[in-house]
Order: sequence, then structure tokens, then C-alpha cells
Amino acid sequence: MANFKNLFGEEQEYQCLSCDIANHKIIPPGGYIYEDDFINVSADPEIPIEGFVVLGVNKHVKSLCDFTDEERNRIMEVLNKTIQVIKREGISKEVFLIQEETSQHFHIWIVPTHEWMNNVGKDVRNLQKIIDYSKDRVTEKSLKEIVTTIEKIKKGFLEVQEK
Ligand SMILES: [Zn+2]
Repeated sequence: MANFKNLFGEEQEYQCLSCDIANHKIIPPGGYIYEDDFINVSADPEIPIEGFVVLGVNKHVKSLCDFTDEERNRIMEVLNKTIQVIKREGISKEVFLIQEETSQHFHIWIVPTHEWMNNVGKDVRNLQKIIDYSKDRVTEKSLKEIVTTIEKIKKGFLEVQEK
């Protein structure tokens, strides 16, 4: 068991965070943006960046190479849709995408860029600094905005057609 502090400052225990989110043992902030029997999209549970969402899969595998072609296509469809929604809802014009095979369970971080990131350098190489900056400056008001943004993304997800 490991634990982390969620967006709202509550300690949460987990075995595998991605499995626990997929199995509803840990409910992500604002609930699920999208889920089906293969894939899920939800707000990052820990880092207070507006519109930061995680694309997760329900099976416990590590690498993009561990999926069937059909599954990989599905990942791309949902990834594309998520980015489209972030842009369409005016959350950001561009995103960082991060996938680390060093994590035991495949997931993709989708991090919208924001103006304030220029304070530390809006560059993926500064991601740790960006995360620290977001945590240092979190307020009740910014948390509310994050939750409102999750709702926007959820709503946008229902409106954007998949191709
Ligand atoms: Zn897992």
C-alpha cells in the first residue's frame, strides 16, 4: 500500500492508483469524465492544474506495445477527443502529453498549458517546477475553478463526436 494526498488535501491509500481508479476504489476529483470497459478519462487526483486529465486503461499493463491494434486505436480516438474538448472549451490551445513506461500501469498525462506556466518556463522540461508551482499556489478559489473545468470537460465530452 502507498498513499498520496488528493487535490482536496485528503490522504488516500492505493495499491495501484490506475487500477484503483478503474475499479472505483478511488474516485477521481469530480468523478469520471469518460469510462467504458476498456478506458477511462478523469482529472489528475493530485496535481492542481486546471484541465489536467489522465487517460487510463482498465487493464494492468505497462506499455503502448502491450495492447492489440484495436485497443491502440481506441486509445488514440479517446486521446484525440480529450485534446479536442480541452481546446473547444477554451481551457488551453495546447497540451503536454506524457506517458512513462517506468510506471507499472499505462496511462497518459494530458496537461493543458496555461499562461502562468511562463513564470517557471512553459516547457515540458520544467514539468516538475510547474507542478510545484501549482501546488504552492493552490487556493480554495483555484480548486473551485479546477472542479468547474472538470465539469466543462465532462459536458464537452458528450458534445464532441468521435470520428
Ligand atoms: Zn494497475
